[in-house]
Amino acid sequence: MRDLIVVGTLLTMDEERTVWNDGGILVRNGAISAIDHRSTLLAQHPNSEVIGGQGNLITPGFVNAHQHLTGDRLVRSCIPDDIPADKAIFEWSVPLHVAHTGDDDELSATLSLLEAVGNGITTTIEAGTVAHPERVAAAFEKVGVRGTVGTWGWDRGEGAFADDTDEILMRQQSIVETWPAGGLVEGWVTLVGHDLASDRLFVESAELARSAGTSLTFHMSPSTSDGPSFVQRTGKRPINHLADLGVLGRETLIAHAVHLDEYELDLLIETQTAVAYCPWAYLRLGQGVSQSGRHLDFFKRSGRLALGCDTENAGDAIDALRVGALTAGLAKDMACDPTVFGAHEALELLTIRGAEAVGMADRIGSLEVGKAADLVVHDFGKLNSVPRSIDPALQLLWTGDGRAVKDVMVNGVLVIQDSTSNRLDYEDLAYRASLAQERLLQEAGLAASPRWPVR
Ligand SMILES: [Zn+2]
Repeated sequence: MRDLIVVGTLLTMDEERTVWNDGGILVRNGAISAIDHRSTLLAQHPNSEVIGGQGNLITPGFVNAHQHLTGDRLVRSCIPDDIPADKAIFEWSVPLHVAHTGDDDELSATLSLLEAVGNGITTTIEAGTVAHPERVAAAFEKVGVRGTVGTWGWDRGEGAFADDTDEILMRQQSIVETWPAGGLVEGWVTLVGHDLASDRLFVESAELARSAGTSLTFHMSPSTSDGPSFVQRTGKRPINHLADLGVLGRETLIAHAVHLDEYELDLLIETQTAVAYCPWAYLRLGQGVSQSGRHLDFFKRSGRLALGCDTENAGDAIDALRVGALTAGLAKDMACDPTVFGAHEALELLTIRGAEAVGMADRIGSLEVGKAADLVVHDFGKLNSVPRSIDPALQLLWTGDGRAVKDVMVNGVLVIQDSTSNRLDYEDLAYRASLAQERLLQEAGLAASPRWPVR
């Protein structure tokens, strides 16, 4: 592979958060091999291919710590946004999942990952596909991005995918064996969570993740409903119960953890359990984050926090910077204090702190020699970035979103060039997606009923 030099303003997110005004990154064999002034690197390696340039801002690739890749993507923005959450799940999402074929899952994941990488997301933690994890893994490979796959299952409650504990554990085992830890695509033990897993399923899933050197992820307490159902069944709040079972720890990433009492918050911090915070979803679903969310406290107490987009139909856009700006805005507003959290902290969550929370900071999350070359070139020549700020972090987070993303590299391979995938045909994907949407809505018995009359 030919050496490549990426030049521009570098937001390295290294230990000192060094910014290079006119810097360069030498990429060799998939990894970052040197970082220096642009002119020095170009003089030392005159035959390298060069990307970026003046007016470009280079950041590490963003980490999206909670993302559904199958199911709702093909009916994006079809599920009404003014119905209760259980109706959205059981009357829409579940029948749609049932109607999904393997082709649908792959197409859905391809669209999601393509959108994500086009907005600078190079690592995606899959929140759990139901039926065809191998097709989701194929989508990761096609798009050329890093991430994890999992397969859902639940052994409590009813529903189309309810199963017995042994069967679910066997499927989890096969996931972590098929995609071992450390690869570009990693298998994670992935449960739905909530109150849909028996104690045994939680405990043995955590044990499996530890023995396979991978992680466990599941949903908990995005709304107020998990608390009372755990108290009724176990006599304890969810996090308290999971702590007693031994499920918490560094290899566990809990999605949401919005509604926590003081003791639960302490437990998450003490056990160094990571949390994926997805504020768009809570706003979109009206789950009370602006009144009850404790993520700022968690962050301030060195909790291992990452951000997630958590679409579809719960956030809709897969755009890390949009999530980052909302996170910063909510933190300031909820504390009635603009000094508590800002653009710099939000960018840390999207890069190095997010990478740490998902257990990958040894490989990704910052532009440093020895790490994988996962990076994003943002075009700062556009109107919203003119004039250039003296602080690129402020400008990146508050004036923009993924629109400025020009080139994206994952593991040293350029997968987005001039804002377009160099591997996939957008027109063909769009055509197949519209056919799939029509068929899925019909098969799931969902009549299209837009709010306003369509003539
Ligand atoms: Zn989720």
